[in-house]
Amino acid sequence: MKSLRVEAEKPYEVHIGRGVLNLFSTEYRELLGSADAIAVIADENVASLHLDYLLSFLEPFQVRVFKIPSGEGAKSIKVFMDCHSFLLAEGFSRKSLILAFGGGVVGDVAGFVASTFMRGIPYIQIPTTILAHDSAVGGKTAINHPSGKNMIGTFYQPAAVLYDIQLLHTLPAKEVRSGMAEVIKHAFISNEHWLGELLEIKSLDTISDEKMVLHLERGIAVKAAIVEEDEYESGVRKYLNFGHTLAHAIEAHLGYGRITHGEAVALGMAYALQLSGHPRLMDFLSWCKTNGYPLEGLSGISFKDVLGYMKKDKKSSGGSLSFVLLKETGTPYMETIDEKRAESDYEELRS
Ligand code: NAD
Ligand code: ZN
Repeated sequence: MKSLRVEAEKPYEVHIGRGVLNLFSTEYRELLGSADAIAVIADENVASLHLDYLLSFLEPFQVRVFKIPSGEGAKSIKVFMDCHSFLLAEGFSRKSLILAFGGGVVGDVAGFVASTFMRGIPYIQIPTTILAHDSAVGGKTAINHPSGKNMIGTFYQPAAVLYDIQLLHTLPAKEVRSGMAEVIKHAFISNEHWLGELLEIKSLDTISDEKMVLHLERGIAVKAAIVEEDEYESGVRKYLNFGHTLAHAIEAHLGYGRITHGEAVALGMAYALQLSGHPRLMDFLSWCKTNGYPLEGLSGISFKDVLGYMKKDKKSSGGSLSFVLLKETGTPYMETIDEKRAESDYEELRS
């Protein structure tokens, strides 16, 4: 098991490894015992696969389970209200505790519920996707507004993150790809040696548990270091958006759910590497190809299709185009790119 501490305003531990849920009966027994009620807010899909496993670690405690639908659609005001209605109907109080059981969607919704229920109660993240190594750490919680993703939310750190990699074995290949894109993003913005190791992976479904723990730990360490420096995203935290300007535009253009977030980020990183003139561009493109990322999807998306969305990106202002770029692995920076160059590099990548 690997453990690391996130030195946020309110520090907490992240534990990664096979069977770490066992910490509910040791290190976190007191925290659970001190709550007057415990709610598991679970992705219904994850619940059908793994709820019994989770409950087996919570045996001495009275736990009530609320299942929410799988998928991005659950980040809605309706599901948010349903969670609150459940907690109120079940008599939860300010002394209660929430366990978020699922991927980034559940983490974002349950975190937002925890931050607003009776003005805030503690919650523990139990991530079940690879992508959630990113979303479970850092304390950003959110639901979507019809006019934009993550438009309603808070900064609210969890009390702990228990990342049991045993749960990852049931992930479909698409979700493994999605999560590994964010892992490689963390490598791009931090460490050439680690990046080299990841680029050698020829098949994502053959990564051993030991290696997976290592990659997730490194990814979380990168995220944690940035969050510690910039918890409320006024500076370096925006480097975590490497590859995301185009990714968000592609997701918005295609409609959410047509491509996974991580797959879109992979395309976005390829574009950012192209704009940067990064020496790893070709290696990255062949890694994407080998591992089944939908690079060919770009041929059906014109520059015009994504331009408007990229201009609306949070990092851009006044209609300009801003990107997180990377001349060398580990040293991200922001750059404003004029539209002509953005277009010709986009066409070059598509060719
Ligand atoms: P997700 O939570 O929708 O999970 C993806 C799919 O995998 C779902 O269908 C889910 O039912 C299924 N699944 C989850 N765990 C499984 C398991 N162990 N076995 C089998 N199937 C499983 O998506 P995600 O990719 O984990 O997260 C994406 C969300 O995270 C987005 O909404 C994004 O905005 C958010 N996010 C938040 C942050 C943050 O800092 N808060 C960072 C990155 C992403
Ligand atoms: Zn992302």
